[in-house]
Parts: sequence; C-alpha cells; structure tokens
Amino acid sequence: MIYLDNCATTKPDPEVLKTFHTVNEKYYFNPSSPHHKGLETNKLLEQARSQIRDILKLKNQSIIFTSGATESNNLLITGMARSKKPFGQTIITSHLEHPSALETVRALESEGFTVKYVEFKDGRLDLEHFKSLLNSDVTLVCLMHVNNVMGAILPITSIKEVLKNYPKVHFHVDCVQSFGKLELPVDAMDSFVLSGHKFNGLKGQGLLVFNQLKTITHTVFGGGQEYGFRSGTVNVANDVALSRAVRIAESERTELYSRTQHFKEQLEHAVQQLPGLYVNSLEEGVPHIVNIGFPGVKGEVIVNAFSKEDICVSTTSACSSKRAKFNEALNALHVPETVIAGSVRVSFDKYTTQSDINRFITVLQQIYREMKELIKDAV
Ligand code: PLP
Repeated sequence: MIYLDNCATTKPDPEVLKTFHTVNEKYYFNPSSPHHKGLETNKLLEQARSQIRDILKLKNQSIIFTSGATESNNLLITGMARSKKPFGQTIITSHLEHPSALETVRALESEGFTVKYVEFKDGRLDLEHFKSLLNSDVTLVCLMHVNNVMGAILPITSIKEVLKNYPKVHFHVDCVQSFGKLELPVDAMDSFVLSGHKFNGLKGQGLLVFNQLKTITHTVFGGGQEYGFRSGTVNVANDVALSRAVRIAESERTELYSRTQHFKEQLEHAVQQLPGLYVNSLEEGVPHIVNIGFPGVKGEVIVNAFSKEDICVSTTSACSSKRAKFNEALNALHVPETVIAGSVRVSFDKYTTQSDINRFITVLQQIYREMKELIKDAV
C-alpha cells in the first residue's frame, strides 16, 4: 500500500505508541487523586506540558490538552466570542478554514454574531480586504496557518501587525497543518491549536495554546481539570505521548521540509507533462501538499482509480468530502468550478519514500491515458 493521504491522518511513530503503552501500564492513576500515585502521575503530566512549552518556545501561554483540534477550535472560538460579546459581535474568518472552525463560527451566528470572510487574490490572503473588514465591533479573528486542501500559507505575522491597532481583537490560529512542517509564529498568535495525529501522534490528541486563559467563558463544566477549562479525567498517557510526538516532529521538521519539497517538485513536474491537468496547489505553498485538478472527471473517480492500484489519496479533505458538494476552500482560491469537482489531494509525511512517488507518477500517467478523452473534452 502507498499512503499519500497524510493530511487526513498520519501513521503513528512507534516511539509515540510505546510511550502511550508504557504510561498507560505504569501510570494509570488519576492525576487529580491526592495519594502518592496520583501525585506521581500528575508530575508526569506537568512534565509533558513543560516539555511542549520548551519545544514550542512559549512564554506566558497556557497549554490545555484536548481530544483534538476540533475540540480545541470549538472551546476557544465559542468561549472567546461569548466572553467578548459585551464589547463586540463581529468575527472575521475565511472560507479556507477547517469545518471545526467554520461551523463553530456559523453556529455563533444564531446567537447574534456577525461573520465576515476575508478574500484571497492569486492564492494569497488579500491584506487590504482584511483591513477593510476591521471595525470596532470585531473581537475575534479565526484563521489557519496552512490550508489543508491546497497548502496555502497565510501571512500570520503580517495579520498580527495589522491587528496591533485593534487591541480588543483576539487572534486565533489553526496550526494543524503547519506544525512539524513550518516554524510556528508563536508570538503573533493569541491562541492556536494542534492535532497529534497530523504529525505521527495518535488520534484523540490535541492542544489549545492560549495566552489569556482566565478571560474566557467555559463551555465544559465538571471537575475543573485543565485549569477549569476542560473538565473530565485527564488522559495522561495520551498527553505524555503527545509531548513525545511534538518533540519528534519538531526535531525532524527541517529535514522533512526539504525531502517533501523534492517530492512536490517531482509530482508537479509530472502533472505539467500531462496536457489538460492542473496543479492547483501553489508554488509558495507548503511542500507536503499537492493538489491536482482533473477537469471533466469527478475527484471520486480518480481516488477510486488510485485505490484500485493500492494507492491512497483523497478528493478534498476527509472532513469535507462527505459533506460538501464542492470545496469551499478551492472556490475561495478561485480554482475554476470544472476543476474543483475533479480535484485530488496528495499529501506526504516522513514515511513517504522516493519509490512511493515513482509509483504514484507511473499510475498517474496510466490513469491519465485512460481518462484522456474526458479531460480533453472538458478543457
Ligand atoms: N484543522 C485542520 C486544518 C485540519 O486539517 C483538521 C483535521 O483534518 C482539524 C482542524 C481537526 O483536527 P482533529 O482531527 O484533531 O479534530
């Protein structure tokens, strides 16, 4: 099997699995228990938190362990918007966001919030348009660092520069597809989220990093764990294993970048040799995501054709492919409608090899030959 759907999820690193197993076996105690075993377990948990703090080069920010980026986005966006409601009710976001941010923001519309969407020009966030959306009613800006469908990189530091003139605005960033691939602009973000299974950790591992913990409205009530922000018995083995995944991913980041950059160039070059096909992903996007457009053919048909050859790729994103008829992110980035329907995402991680890429290109050429007439008619 050749697995090229690493934006959907990645294969867990054996070291992460080992940590999870060992901690579960030896430290299964409740870290809130007052006895010595509870205290030891709690120490392990706090050690994991502080290791992550060091790796991410955090200053005063708090780290909250969650079940994933979906929960982190929900907790922050809902809690922050509600706590700032007396000061303003406008949220700025973009059509590129993951459903865990976009649908949360949209749910807030029914509570009376106004949602505005920043536009994109030539694949880049339009900063002038962003500035035009800002006014005294804006309290929350929710954007992502790297888009999960096209690999577009958003200018987080420049956005923060603009926001310096709007001190009551909280700037929340989804760093799910950038951590382990790019250096995170930690000082430019008021809060951000990570998801363990996107960088060879485990599913159900998430982080919310936040600089104003006390100012937010809680949405999960109970025993007051995770600074009262996320009640529920803490999954210590999961969180310690996440800290391991964070350390490994950061230590391998630069090497992974150059290796995947090489893969991306090869793949894009191969696509450019096949008349009618499009490279949707941007040259200045992240190297681990390549998006290919097959005009006139449905993305699902292409995914199935690769599946028959034991190659896993995906249409848009695993989360939106089951829901949306057409991809909102590709549309916001002005990909033509005929190409959107036939878009396929190929994504790499540290286990992707040169022979995976060679095989993918051979199968791509084969599928192209079979579908050439359909593609030609659509162009
Ligand atoms: N944000 C982005 C950009 C993603 O790609 C994903 C997962 O696809 C998520 C958030 C949700 O992450 P999780 O699966 O940890 O809830």
